[in-house]
Amino acid sequence: MVKRKGLLLVVSGPSGAGKGTICKELLKNNDQIKLSVSATTRKPRTGEVDGVNYFFITKEKFENMIAEGEFLEYAKIYDNIYGTPKAAILECLEKGQDVLLEIEMQGAAQIKEVYPQGVFIFVLPPSLQELKNRIVGRGTETQEEIDKRFSCAFEEIKQIDNYDYFIVNEDVVKSAKEVESIISSEKNKVNRY
Ligand code: 5GP
Repeated sequence: MVKRKGLLLVVSGPSGAGKGTICKELLKNNDQIKLSVSATTRKPRTGEVDGVNYFFITKEKFENMIAEGEFLEYAKIYDNIYGTPKAAILECLEKGQDVLLEIEMQGAAQIKEVYPQGVFIFVLPPSLQELKNRIVGRGTETQEEIDKRFSCAFEEIKQIDNYDYFIVNEDVVKSAKEVESIISSEKNKVNRY
């Protein structure tokens, strides 16, 4: 049997939705998944370790890396730049290892362009649970209509259309389990790359 590449899991969504905590919970129980360590120009916060939480680099170094094409994506957030180093990730995927990216939405959109076979998961904050119940639970709308309603109601989550899955994060343990289910389904796809 041909060895399959690893999955590139992109967990994104509006700020405050809890994507970071879901990723932590997922990694706690799945040590075969590798978390991508991003580079950033922001200063480390107390307790953050270079090479673990981020690669903390200067703006000049970041710009050189952009020029050298070393990022899979990068985005400016407030006054800082954040980016996903490319080489290590592609190497892991080639070896069949799954890689997890926890990034904001501009970056996820860039990855979708260059690596559409990634698995794109959108995390919604819990206050949208009610909306989800009303629209999805009714079962009368098409997917297009459901997406349209979400987009109209919440300007910020318009980009949900570019994702493969969404998770409403009402409970972090449950949300991490949902990501695990997504991973299992993706792995069992017959025609996966
Ligand atoms: P923080 O500064 O709080 O660690 O992160 C700020 C935001 O940057 C979060 O929404 C986080 O998901 C996002 N982020 C972290 N690393 C990357 C990255 O490599 N690329 C992009 N586009 N966003 C990132």
